[in-house]
Amino acid sequence: MTHSPRILTHTGATRLAGVIGWPVDHSQSPRLHGYWLAHHGIDGAYVPLAVPPDRLAEAVAGLPALGFSGANVTIPHKTAVIPLLHHVTAVARQIGAVNTLIVNGDGTITGTNTDAQGFLDNLKQQAPAWNPDRPAAVIGAGGAARAVCAALINAGVPEILLFNRTVDKAAELAESLRIHRAAAIFPLPLTGGMWKTRARDIGLMVNATALGMTGHPALNLDLSVLRPDTVVADIVYAPLKTPLLAAAEQHGLTAVDGLGMLLHQARAGFSQWFGTMPEVTGELRAFVLSGMNA
Ligand code: NAP
Repeated sequence: MTHSPRILTHTGATRLAGVIGWPVDHSQSPRLHGYWLAHHGIDGAYVPLAVPPDRLAEAVAGLPALGFSGANVTIPHKTAVIPLLHHVTAVARQIGAVNTLIVNGDGTITGTNTDAQGFLDNLKQQAPAWNPDRPAAVIGAGGAARAVCAALINAGVPEILLFNRTVDKAAELAESLRIHRAAAIFPLPLTGGMWKTRARDIGLMVNATALGMTGHPALNLDLSVLRPDTVVADIVYAPLKTPLLAAAEQHGLTAVDGLGMLLHQARAGFSQWFGTMPEVTGELRAFVLSGMNA
């Protein structure tokens, strides 16, 4: 399915946003926001902003003067940007990273993080029957796992089994999230017998590692130990159907892909900058996927 964006002539009232990263050419965000701008006929522009680390402070400070409504922030700036901001939301502090900037009317800049909400919104859209009453297993202890754990804690999951190759990193993540809210997070090694012992009772399994990504080995955990109503989510979206999700389907489990998280996390920023809350539709998914495969 294709979507033909309407070409708008920008006026003096054009609303501006963009994505700050280094490098930034891999980012799907200009395509995603460009689709929504065209779909809603908004006089706005969303541009890639390639900013090296040593110029991040200058670039962020310049956003209000340039008339930007805000920006996304991506690798490698998500943590480094925090001290440059006037306000940082509670969820961004909880996750320890900012991915969305909003320029306020008084010229100050607020930083927030929409990854946790994006993960949860996607889960609700792709697995509407999931509810947070059973423990969840999260695989990984990097930046993405932090956002997933924050989302699950905030959603009321009673217990998180945090499996990671480097168990010390899982322990650090668990400790830092406990500071923000009492939550039962148990760091566990990825190898050994703990998966089989502990995975029986979970209602949700999330891969938040790079395993399964194109060019990376697959995440090999035995899914036959899971209950039939367990939801298996992957935040890797290239390929869309990872080996983990293919295995989940073979076991008759509900599989949730990672593309939806990427799309859902963008909604809040778009709404703040351009004044309309956009939707994640099948047509949008196809449009972004066709760009990734081009
Ligand atoms: P990160 O901070 O570098 O963390 C990487 C994680 O993967 C760590 O837990 C690491 O374990 C684990 N890992 C890497 N290679 C491994 C291997 N060979 N065996 C076992 N574990 C391995 O990366 P991140 O920013 O969290 O991103 C992780 C993935 O999430 C990436 O694929 C990224 O594209 C995806 N992502 C998706 C979205 C979305 O919107 N869908 C958003 C953000 C990120 P150790 O601690 O042992 O090194």
